[in-house]
Amino acid sequence: MQDLFVGKPYGEEAKFAARAVSMAAKLCREIRGEMVTQSLEKSDRSPVTVADFASQAVVARLLMDTYPQDPLIAEEASQTLRAAEGAKTLEAVTAYVARIHEGAESEEVCRWIDHGDGKTADRFWTLDPIDGTKGFLRGDQYVTALALLEADQVVVGALGCPNLNHQIEPEIGGEGVVVVAIRGQGCWALSMEGKSLGKLSVSTITDPGQARVLRSFESGHTDSGKLEQIIERLATAHPPVLMDSQAKYALMAAGKGDLLFRLLSPAQPGYVEKIWDQAAGLIVVEEAGGKVTDLRGTSLDFTCGRGLTENIGVLASNRRLHDDALEIVRSIGADRRLKAD
Ligand code: AMP
Ligand code: MG
Repeated sequence: MQDLFVGKPYGEEAKFAARAVSMAAKLCREIRGEMVTQSLEKSDRSPVTVADFASQAVVARLLMDTYPQDPLIAEEASQTLRAAEGAKTLEAVTAYVARIHEGAESEEVCRWIDHGDGKTADRFWTLDPIDGTKGFLRGDQYVTALALLEADQVVVGALGCPNLNHQIEPEIGGEGVVVVAIRGQGCWALSMEGKSLGKLSVSTITDPGQARVLRSFESGHTDSGKLEQIIERLATAHPPVLMDSQAKYALMAAGKGDLLFRLLSPAQPGYVEKIWDQAAGLIVVEEAGGKVTDLRGTSLDFTCGRGLTENIGVLASNRRLHDDALEIVRSIGADRRLKAD
């Protein structure tokens, strides 16, 4: 990794982001391996809760050490851990964080987690400690996603994907991969140990009939009816790839998928996308040659705080299919917010 980013603008930040997500993602994998036992009830979310907080504490602490002036906007807050009911979870989180930050104590772990309560500024970071919590529990894909924003633009993004293989294929159970992008410089895949696996490029497919659609595993995160209509209009020969998390953006960057629609779920018509769910994925796709907008073709606006309040859903593509996809979205009315019943 040393050579890859040396001398590049934002090279140091990219190196930092790759290292941070790799450490956090490896810790999540350890937690999953140790806490998800055969006797665990399906409804028990404790492994993902512990991993979520531990991952955020680890990355936040690394950021506080490396870029102490930079604000961080991250998904979690320590409030529930500090409550009496959270004591056992906090104990587990602290023990895992101490594997990386030796001697870590509960109080400081909470403080590191709450470092993620930052505000947007000219330069700030955003973190999803585990994107794809359902994938984590199921044993499918999940990622740790970290991005740096400066002057309203994502300038660095890193996805730590502990379950993807080095070829960045949909199959699960890979050795893990880190995908990193720098604005204007490109997008790379690295091993979890930081070895370069090469530059990534999106597919060159121009025929919608050949498009491979990447979709959420969770049907509640989209509008399944409208997505079926879109797939029908595309008349694509390929069945959609179901996958959790921003690992879908890693696949697109590697040319293994061509279109991704984040449609508004009819169950939550007011849903606003979160910045940590999109920032790293956006730059990874764009720097591999793709395009990311909302469902109306508008650029994502990261200046509004924790949510993309000015946008409606997301469309990511290999660029060549973007206009065709937007036209289909428009034609079925998926580019508008529905009124709640
Ligand atoms: P995915 O794995 O692609 O289904 O996306 C996971 C992300 O979807 C999580 O990080 C959630 O923050 C987000 N999410 C939760 N509810 C919704 C919803 N109703 N619509 C879209 N995304 C959602
Ligand atoms: Mg998420």
